[in-house]
Amino acid sequence: RLHVPLPEEVNVSVVVRVRPPLEREKQLGYSKCLSVDSLGHSLTVFQMPPPGISTDIPFKPSSPQPTPRTFTFDYVADESVTQEEMFTAVGKPMAHACLQGYHCCLIAYGQTGAGKTYTMEGPSLHTSFNDLDSIDSGITEKSGLIPRILETIFLILAAEKAQSGVDVEFSVRCSSLQIYNEQVEDLLCPNSTNLTIHEDAKIGMYVEGLQEIEVQTPEATYEVLKRGSLNRHVGATAMNAESSRSHGVFILSVESQRQDLGILNRRVSRFYLVDLAGSERQKQTEAVGLRLRESGSINRSLSALGNVIKALLETTEGKIRHIPYRDSKLTYLLKDALGGNSRCTLIANVSPSIINLEETICTLKFAQRAKYI
Ligand code: ADP
Ligand code: MG
Repeated sequence: RLHVPLPEEVNVSVVVRVRPPLEREKQLGYSKCLSVDSLGHSLTVFQMPPPGISTDIPFKPSSPQPTPRTFTFDYVADESVTQEEMFTAVGKPMAHACLQGYHCCLIAYGQTGAGKTYTMEGPSLHTSFNDLDSIDSGITEKSGLIPRILETIFLILAAEKAQSGVDVEFSVRCSSLQIYNEQVEDLLCPNSTNLTIHEDAKIGMYVEGLQEIEVQTPEATYEVLKRGSLNRHVGATAMNAESSRSHGVFILSVESQRQDLGILNRRVSRFYLVDLAGSERQKQTEAVGLRLRESGSINRSLSALGNVIKALLETTEGKIRHIPYRDSKLTYLLKDALGGNSRCTLIANVSPSIINLEETICTLKFAQRAKYI
């Protein structure tokens, strides 16, 4: 049931993950509005909210689907799919692709609370110290894609190193940034603001002045991720903003140097791990001042992302298209990993509950539009 999210010839795949219901949703009169087919390729949204059920956004009589609606994707993970199974289906093939020299990009999309961070990192790093402790001790059942990808990458590198001996050198570096209000900020160096993204003929896209930390083990790499993630959280709180209003990007650069008949071959592939800002629309009345500006920036990046993925897929189908990478900081930064010699997976996270129905349909439409024209 868990296979083929990454067909060789297509470099963008779209996956949906439905998370289990939360306590709050159960209390509010949880009722399920989704079903996933047994093959894990499609999902049907099958209900209108029954009268008296409160929803995040009030339903207008004309709004969403009066009849069941089915969406098809490369893979749909229902609430029973474990973190390990997600890794096998999505993370592992990308870890391998990265080490084969492809730039990779794994993006979590969805409304706040839909499970983006859980999917990428695991249970929240900010809730309790007990969580931090259990993550410190290595991969647990609840570890998300990133720690598992890190573990796999270092394992493969060690095996390759053992096989090739002194003729090959590997180095792994990582960075952590956020894009907030269309500004790039280094999360490992919290006073930096508005860094510039550049394109270089040899190395591709890079952020000027972004701190890069050389790492030797998956645990040390994950420490860096946690540090960045914590700064995203603390910074946002200090600004009276929500960390869910910025796009978090963790970048892993894997470099190999090998001697082939006396010639030095150097290869760098980058893995971008992206925890996007919540895709929910702000309620009109709340969107003033800072919130309004945030919303504008978020919408701009997310719609630019959708447009770029769509244009890339049309290009694979033989049409020549202009790819509008420059329409947002996010798509410009990810340019190498979205198009060209790359592998990209978008995971659309959704809540199973009727109280989130309207946002869920928006998320599925976004994901569908990214994939099928
Ligand atoms: P987001 O990052 O999209 O805002 P979170 O990842 O923080 O959402 O998830 C919201 C809540 O749901 C958290 O308490 C998280 O632990 C829980 N959760 C999300 N996905 C799952 C899942 N697949 N299994 C169990 N709990 C989950
Ligand atoms: Mg989150």
